[in-house]
Amino acid sequence: MAKYKGGCHCGKIAFEVEGDLQQVVECNCSMCSRRGGLLWFVPRQQLGLGTPAADYATYTFNNHRIKHHFCPTCGIAPFSEASDKSGNRWRRSMRAASKASRFQLSR
Ligand SMILES: [Zn+2]
Repeated sequence: MAKYKGGCHCGKIAFEVEGDLQQVVECNCSMCSRRGGLLWFVPRQQLGLGTPAADYATYTFNNHRIKHHFCPTCGIAPFSEASDKSGNRWRRSMRAASKASRFQLSR
């Protein structure tokens, strides 16, 4: 499995995610369509977060089921958290991953 490092613009939020990145989702919700997010859904245990929860802020809207975490300093929202029938999953913006930005991602 490959490891991808990512984070926000100022560096306050840092993370690593492990997995075989095959495809991303170009989400068409009212928020993602504005920010151009490309999402990858992974189980929570594949995400290594190098930032304490107190260092990032959270935004929710509509049914408030997805927690969109963002940096209060630079405003970048590099990942979100949600639950589904199979348990906790996280989705993250692949535009926030340094390694993934060098690859052509299938949508
Ligand atoms: Zn930041």
